[in-house]
Amino acid sequence: MGLSFTTTSVMPRICILGGGFGGLFTALHLTKLPWRHQPELLLVDRRDHFLFTPLLYELLTQEVSIGQIAPAFDTLLARTGIRFHCGEVTALDPQAKLVTLTGGAGQEVLTYDDVVLALGNEAPLDLVPGARDYALPFRTLDDALRLHRAVSDLEASDREKIRVCIAGAGGSGVELAGKLSDRLRERGRIRLIDRNPQILPHSPAANRRHAERILGDRGVWIDLKTSVVGVAADAITLEFQGIQEALAADLVLWTVGNSRPSLLQALSLDLAPTLQCRHDPNLFALGDCAVPFLPYPATAQVAFQQSGYCAYNIWAAYHGQRLLPFTYLPLGEFVSLGVGEASAALFNVIGINGAIAAQMRRWVYLLRMPTLDHQLRVAGEWLGSLVNDQVADRISREAEPMTPK
Ligand SMILES: Cc1cc2nc3c(=O)[nH]c(=O)nc-3n(C[C@H](O)[C@H](O)[C@H](O)COP(=O)(O)OP(=O)(O)OC[C@H]3O[C@@H](n4cnc5c(N)ncnc54)[C@H](O)[C@@H]3O)c2cc1C
Repeated sequence: MGLSFTTTSVMPRICILGGGFGGLFTALHLTKLPWRHQPELLLVDRRDHFLFTPLLYELLTQEVSIGQIAPAFDTLLARTGIRFHCGEVTALDPQAKLVTLTGGAGQEVLTYDDVVLALGNEAPLDLVPGARDYALPFRTLDDALRLHRAVSDLEASDREKIRVCIAGAGGSGVELAGKLSDRLRERGRIRLIDRNPQILPHSPAANRRHAERILGDRGVWIDLKTSVVGVAADAITLEFQGIQEALAADLVLWTVGNSRPSLLQALSLDLAPTLQCRHDPNLFALGDCAVPFLPYPATAQVAFQQSGYCAYNIWAAYHGQRLLPFTYLPLGEFVSLGVGEASAALFNVIGINGAIAAQMRRWVYLLRMPTLDHQLRVAGEWLGSLVNDQVADRISREAEPMTPK
């Protein structure tokens, strides 16, 4: 394996590890600050695209396209001055200020002046026997495409019913249940399983109640106070009140839990509220990978808000300004519950349900997508498909035979 050693240039080099909500938006914010000496900005990710996870479910029902929710970094970062480097971060040496990457071109060691850790977290598939081999996680574009293929194969089979078990009734489990029940319709037998006594345990009560009602209307079974204790090729074992039962399942989806990236497991981060590491002023961390060290949930909303603070504080450290502690402003929550159906709790207080909430969710998320160019492209495509749908609807209504009175 080739080993290249990239030396630092005169201008400071800021390496941002992870191009998700925390990392990509930190990099974009950094470009907009009034630098005395423009730094070299390097964004590193093992994938070649950003992923707008809140709309990942919509791929299953073809309400969005891959390009809309997973734009390539090369396209997104054109004309921003940020350099993208595709590679797996395999080691970090904060003393020597070195990052080791492994990719198609072999191994590469990058030097940095400042490093931002924004590596997200991973799906823990080792919690129950069989989950790693037989359950499908739902976090990445590849996960969504694998699930789409698996569902398509089942749809093409001669099965009368398609049995899907979803482990975890948090946001991901509930949104998956809604989309899959709309996709599979009367062929779907969808079961949502959680050991908690209620679904969406961290959501505002209004969102939870609406989700319970809509999933109930769609015939989704909800097994609460129930643990998944095993997964096999065509079955899932559940435990309720100490009694275990194995059920046949065509698909088992895993949405439970978060685990820290293995790279960071050995690293003890003493993070200040400014997102700067207390014992290493050149190291910042944010988003899901900073969750164990700060009192905020693992959400895109937190990572996105932190990115503005992280960028500002890096700039402030270079310009002798006071660093600002991160203040979280909870803006509320959207939960999608199928095609054209959602629940919204604006500022966790104002509740809106149904088709209006579904449209609001879509357009609010558009404003959270990275770069104006990408937002305009997606807006154009969505408006185009809205017009096409209306024209198609009108044509099909006009083509309907008149019923005699
Ligand atoms: C299906 C789904 C739906 C969600 N819906 C919502 C929602 O509606 N609202 C909400 O607020 N939150 C939602 N979330 C949570 C949200 O996606 C995360 O909290 C958010 O993405 C965290 O941002 P981050 O930058 O910390 O991590 P991520 O966005 O996960 O980014 C981490 C990046 O690091 C890269 N990476 C990881 N390890 C390495 C490595 N070793 N080398 C190189 N690159 C690496 C990854 O490829 C990734 O691009 C959802 C999550 C999922 C999975």
